[in-house]
Amino acid sequence: MFRRLEQIPTRRYIDRMIGLVRGLRDGICGLWRAGFGLLFPPRCVHCNADLFNALSGPCLCAECLARCGPEQWYGCPRCGALVPVEHYSSDDCPGCSRTQLWFDTVVALGGYHAGLRDAVLRMKRPSHDPLSLALGRLLWERRRDRLSEIRADVIVPVPMYWGRRLSRGKNNPETLAACLAKSLGVPVRRGVLVRQLNTLPQAGLTPPRRFQNVRGAFRVRRPAGIRDARILLVDDVLTTGATCSEAAKTLKQAGAAMVAVAVVARA
Ligand SMILES: [Zn+2]
Ligand SMILES: [Zn+2]
Repeated sequence: MFRRLEQIPTRRYIDRMIGLVRGLRDGICGLWRAGFGLLFPPRCVHCNADLFNALSGPCLCAECLARCGPEQWYGCPRCGALVPVEHYSSDDCPGCSRTQLWFDTVVALGGYHAGLRDAVLRMKRPSHDPLSLALGRLLWERRRDRLSEIRADVIVPVPMYWGRRLSRGKNNPETLAACLAKSLGVPVRRGVLVRQLNTLPQAGLTPPRRFQNVRGAFRVRRPAGIRDARILLVDDVLTTGATCSEAAKTLKQAGAAMVAVAVVARA
């Protein structure tokens, strides 16, 4: 009887077996990744250049990394507008004093020009989700400190009108939001903010018309989920700030405590 009990696997034995199985699994996965890498060498998701050591990270070559994600971004902390280093304060920013913006702060990867502009325009095309993911990862890697400082409770992507979402097949802010959510360990609430009006495209409208165009465009579907919450609102580009301001206003009127905006590019 006692011998039989001794033969029952002990906790140590089980742990050893689990360790062995995990080791085998990691070995097989490593071999698979190495073989896959040899057959299909990784390429830059923007310019298609060979990547020799990019099994992790944003999957962009060194050149695209330098062009798309500046190490430092001297934007106004309130509206994100590019300001000279000596005026790095919202008190001196003409953008903040000119318009009433409902969001509290903006975190941007860079300016909407040159390399980053090309990348954002390509990211908007169908089947360019890997580029959206790469830019989302780069936004996190380059602006990690500022994004963490926000202490967001929830991440909300700027929604598209349902008809446009259906015809486009994707909404870039959703991909970016998923990427930031994973890095920050914060949940995404996709259905909370709804675009109820199919507004005209903002491009081509004057700044005052842009604010008029999006007035009343959003509504909050489940306000209980965002009451007193610190929200990180995610979009791809911020130009006048009209869309994000209207979305932030809607979220705040539904009970949000603060709304910070994260964008890939600030025009
Ligand atoms: Zn590249
Ligand atoms: Zn400003």
